[in-house]
Amino acid sequence: MEEILFYCQDCDAKVSSEQLGMLDEGKCPTCGSNYGFSTSPKGESDQFEEAVVLNDTDFLK
Ligand SMILES: [Zn+2]
Repeated sequence: MEEILFYCQDCDAKVSSEQLGMLDEGKCPTCGSNYGFSTSPKGESDQFEEAVVLNDTDFLK
């Protein structure tokens, strides 16, 4: 299975999909923010409006 990396939308820390599944209430393990995670780094989110934003349904696939 290909590993997908997600980026904290607050501190831009990389988190693997496996790590995301174990997060406490979806909080970033680095900065503790629950700002959310995206498959695109924070700095690129303006350029990639169609970036996948993680939600609960992603864990069910
Ligand atoms: Zn963070």
